[in-house]
Amino acid sequence: MATFSLPPAPPASSPAALRTLTSQRRSSTKPELALRRVLHARGLRYRVDRPLPGLKRRRADLTFPTERVAVFVDGCFWHACPSHGRRPVANGEWWEVKLSANTARDRDTDAHLAGLDWCVVRAWEHEDPVLAADRVEEAVRSRRAPRA
Ligand SMILES: [Zn+2]
Repeated sequence: MATFSLPPAPPASSPAALRTLTSQRRSSTKPELALRRVLHARGLRYRVDRPLPGLKRRRADLTFPTERVAVFVDGCFWHACPSHGRRPVANGEWWEVKLSANTARDRDTDAHLAGLDWCVVRAWEHEDPVLAADRVEEAVRSRRAPRA
């Protein structure tokens, strides 16, 4: 597993930037709760915010341990969504490194889990929770199908 190290964070450049930084929630964000509601209504039962096999300090937002499906609801800012991701101008270089490291870590997590025969489903926070739930449900059900 690759490790990712960063220079220490610079002080927040403005009160607004500080708010962005400190509002980074690790789990049970609004989009995640919306997805959970839809999945629950469909009778799917998941575990919340669990550590991942073989990965220190990384957790999945939702896991289906029996089917080995891990679900991540990625925030548009922190995970550099192609539609809404933005690089702050203040402390731009640090942010460039930070956000690139986040993306690299996401890909590393995906590769690691795939190597353990886990299925990874990633949803963006901007995504319609019903459509995200469709993808999760499809992954979970396909994993339940008897193997040939
Ligand atoms: Zn987005």
